[in-house]
Amino acid sequence: MIPAEFDYVEPSTLEEALQILAARGEDAKVLAGGHSLVPLMKLRLAQPGVLVYLGRIPGLKGISLDGQRLRIGGMTTHAEVAASPLVRQHAPALAQAAHEIGDRQVRARGTIGGSLAHNDPAADLPAVMLALDAEMKLRSASGERTLKAEPFLVGMLETALRPDEILTEVSVAVSPRSAYVKFPNPASHYAITGVGVALQGNGTVTAARVGVTGAAPLAYRSAGAGAALTGRSLSAESISAAANAAYDGRELLSDIFASAEYRSMLVRVLTKRALEKISG
Ligand SMILES: Cc1cc2nc3c(=O)[nH]c(=O)nc-3n(C[C@H](O)[C@H](O)[C@H](O)COP(=O)(O)OP(=O)(O)OC[C@H]3O[C@@H](n4cnc5c(N)ncnc54)[C@H](O)[C@@H]3O)c2cc1C
Repeated sequence: MIPAEFDYVEPSTLEEALQILAARGEDAKVLAGGHSLVPLMKLRLAQPGVLVYLGRIPGLKGISLDGQRLRIGGMTTHAEVAASPLVRQHAPALAQAAHEIGDRQVRARGTIGGSLAHNDPAADLPAVMLALDAEMKLRSASGERTLKAEPFLVGMLETALRPDEILTEVSVAVSPRSAYVKFPNPASHYAITGVGVALQGNGTVTAARVGVTGAAPLAYRSAGAGAALTGRSLSAESISAAANAAYDGRELLSDIFASAEYRSMLVRVLTKRALEKISG
């Protein structure tokens, strides 16, 4: 359980960090909270030649409201997201998900950028990112690009991030009518299944997004559940129609924690609970 040898640097500017990543390529790994990367290094599943710690770089942390979007720096911790009055008011699903991650210690060190870059299939945030129409800002020495959650989240433990890029900021659509619920693994608290929902419009739903994590190898947005809600007001019937549609006929995971059949039931039940949380 001892990692292989590595170099360690603490750049004080983003430009410096990006230059190191550009120079070292796949040999370099960004270090944020370390809660996913360090265990992988101890198991020797990751053996970076150099760790580039982002914690000394100003400007990578913080939460602000910018018109109809909330902007969150990549190094903002889960605890900061969960406690933010802005997030709680404008994107409650995100505050609820961040509050449910792991335990107090994990939330104090783990970051929004680290969690999304790691893209664990049982992580909470991917479902919320899909529900809240998130955009990821990726910086490299050669420029910047912005990706929506769907192209960003590529596969199990895989994203569109290149080795020379840093996820500097995540933005989500202001969605006061949003909620997240999960069925947690009792030991780690990772989501055996988790569902995030966001509704636009007061009364009649003008747009609905439902994100599901933990159930499938990759978090997904349920088109069926969104369609079942759009153009209707939230009622027992529309909630039930959305819950029944949320599984979407996907190929679901089956492992020691839950069978695929059990997960499909969780998708239905949790979608219903998330919508009931919004309807009060
Ligand atoms: C005991 C335990 C319980 C947990 N429970 C949960 C849970 O219930 N739900 C949940 O969702 N998660 C859970 N986690 C994971 C937790 O959310 C981690 O914080 C997260 O997965 C990684 O974030 P980090 O900041 O620690 O990233 P790190 O471990 O530092 O990095 C993870 C990966 O992302 C890369 N990276 C980090 N930041 C950036 C960036 N800004 N740009 C580009 N690449 C970057 C790193 O190079 C590395 O590959 C748990 C972890 C532990 C140890």
